Amino acid sequence: LVYYFWRFGLKIATFRTNGAVGVGEILEDRGVVVPFDLSAEDAARGVLSLIDRGALPDRKEPISLSDVTLLAPVPRPLRNIFCVGKNYMEHAHEFSKSGFDSSAAAGAVPKNPIIFSKVPETVVAHQDDVIIDSSASEAVDYEAELAVIIGKGGRAISPENAFDHVWGYTIVNDVTARDLQGKYSQWLIGKSQDTFCPMGPWAVTRDSLDIANTAIRCHVNKELRQESNTGLLIFDIPTIIATISAGVTLMPGDVIATGTPAGVGIGFEPPRYLKAGDEVSIEIEGIGTLSNTFRNINR
Ligand code: MG
Repeated sequence: LVYYFWRFGLKIATFRTNGAVGVGEILEDRGVVVPFDLSAEDAARGVLSLIDRGALPDRKEPISLSDVTLLAPVPRPLRNIFCVGKNYMEHAHEFSKSGFDSSAAAGAVPKNPIIFSKVPETVVAHQDDVIIDSSASEAVDYEAELAVIIGKGGRAISPENAFDHVWGYTIVNDVTARDLQGKYSQWLIGKSQDTFCPMGPWAVTRDSLDIANTAIRCHVNKELRQESNTGLLIFDIPTIIATISAGVTLMPGDVIATGTPAGVGIGFEPPRYLKAGDEVSIEIEGIGTLSNTFRNINR
């Protein structure tokens, strides 16, 4: 019964209002968030505080969504965010052809999942700015992705049991400096530039989505760039969880970004990198829309 509330199909947000951080249930039709009764210390951990408890805390008075600023559902992951590379067929081909794929020699479509990570300090919220620092990279690109939030840790998790370990889902933009991804055979630097992991707008518990058939779309300045379905993942969520946990113990609160479909900036000829003022909006059916504007910083 400890994990019972994961099945409720809830939308759960971390937010700030009047200088205080809260965690609450989003009721979109009423335009409110219903805060849970949590200490300030717990609330600062976002949905991790609920995962640790296993059950839902008492609720407080609803707050209008217009009176809150959303924070990332997991404002600071406990450790690096796990990510899967080249996990949609058409994207694997567009990336392999781009010249930035240091793994291309192994073939466009990987035989085994490509797992890399982003440092936790990259996480920013819905509507936060993402920084383009042209002295570090001149090839900043977007990647719309479904992310899994682990609820129950474990090692050697079988594909059959994998969903028992899933608490829920959110959206991430796996922002990437393509030039740095190509320059260094390890992707960590190109993936971990400051602000390169927008996450949100909130998280949903696992029964909110039909993971075999969930639409994912990405617009840049209202222009549709990516449109696919999570049913088209090359390596599905049970395979990803089994692969990572075979020898790496997964922990409650771990975040796994599952890969991006075709239509990223390097898929175009010539490439269409992000520039100051661009707004990237990622929509996943059953979750919502994550939007961020890209801004230059000058050094
Ligand atoms: Mg990615």
